[in-house]
Amino acid sequence: MAAMGSAGSTTGRAEQAEQAEQAAAELAGRGIDAVALGWVDNAGITRVKAVPVAQLPHAARHGVGAAPCFDTFLSDDAMAPGTGPVGDLRLVPDLSALVPLAAQPGWAWAPVDRVTQDGDPHPGCQRTFTRRAADALAARGLRMRAGIEVEWVVDSPPDGAAYGMDRLIAHSDYLRDVLRALAEQRLAVLQIHPEYAPGQFEVSVAPAGPVEAADATVLVRQTVRAVSVRHGLRASFAPMVTAGAVGNGGHLHLSLWREGRNLAGGGQGRYGLTPQAEAFLAGVLAELPGLLVLGAPSPASHLRLVPGRWSGPYQCWGLENREAALRLITGSASEQANAEIKCFDGAANPYLVIGGVLAAGLAGLDGGLRLPPEVPGDPAAAPGTERLPHGLAAAVSAYQASTVLRAALGPELYAAILAVRRAEAEKFAGRDEEAVVEATRWRY
Ligand code: GLU
Ligand code: MG
Repeated sequence: MAAMGSAGSTTGRAEQAEQAEQAAAELAGRGIDAVALGWVDNAGITRVKAVPVAQLPHAARHGVGAAPCFDTFLSDDAMAPGTGPVGDLRLVPDLSALVPLAAQPGWAWAPVDRVTQDGDPHPGCQRTFTRRAADALAARGLRMRAGIEVEWVVDSPPDGAAYGMDRLIAHSDYLRDVLRALAEQRLAVLQIHPEYAPGQFEVSVAPAGPVEAADATVLVRQTVRAVSVRHGLRASFAPMVTAGAVGNGGHLHLSLWREGRNLAGGGQGRYGLTPQAEAFLAGVLAELPGLLVLGAPSPASHLRLVPGRWSGPYQCWGLENREAALRLITGSASEQANAEIKCFDGAANPYLVIGGVLAAGLAGLDGGLRLPPEVPGDPAAAPGTERLPHGLAAAVSAYQASTVLRAALGPELYAAILAVRRAEAEKFAGRDEEAVVEATRWRY
């Protein structure tokens, strides 16, 4: 059952409370003591409040209090100017996503929707934003399936080569425990491997609907973190862990579906795209400069977004082109076709990323947009290929110019994100690369 939409209604909440009674009894029977109620803030940090299992029904019915000023928290826990200490919001757990945490014995986790004290959706709730965007797509008879690849770096890098078997051998118990924990939490892993940078790994899980995919990203990150702690390791999902090295991406894979058919493949357009999939992707490509504010939110994000590191720093698309921000993947069968947006990273709030991409895609669909010509080789060598905005301040200008994002986010969420990005841009202005990396490395 979903807290969705029902969060505000008394009947919905009473039903939730009844379900929570059952869930609490079940959890207690499995030796679970507490439930972490998590959300991701506009800086991309996962924040949490927790309740003992016996309090879960109360939390489901009334929510748990959290200050509205969390909307303007920065990655270093300072607050953007303009927010005060007054007011309260309620964190309402979504019991449909409640899951015991395999690497934190005695704990379960549920993502929350944030509602006002009157029970209305909080206009600044990022998870509600994603759901609203998914509903808008559903109203056109379409669904999006999405998945975010999670890359991370551990603090005691095993020696060995990029993608090297030696690295996998050195950390095989650790990676096995990551796999086991994810499987126990009902997350279907597609792939896991040592990545390019020293100490870097990547895991991807099966695609899901927009809200579920964002929930899964949060759960994967915190599971990796928890398994790391149990192995005496520290995990960083920060866009840059070592100045000048390859960073941690958070590539978003997506496909568009109508009545069980994947519209990214089997069509008459280029590489089998259907007109709807092309229009959706053209909308995303057009909005990428502003979308960087959602998907590459940190000053450190812009240290990652440089040519030659497969982070997709160019505003172009290409079949299997890993330097293009939008990489089209045909796969070996048309059901597998999808697009990968590479310019997003591990500091991003996955709800904002997926909701923002949905909004951009919808604008493309509504405008019947077409993709520009493909960039088939290295964009650096393709004359006229635009770089994405470089630097947080430039991305913020693009965000401010985007009427699509402004309308989709709504005034409150739009303004909160703007305040956070401006404050972070100001805070880090003039600091050298090393200082930015140092300040953000262990925040994500
Ligand atoms: N680590 C790269 C990034 O920052 C991506 C490498 C890859 O293509 O998986 O996006
Ligand atoms: Mg990768």
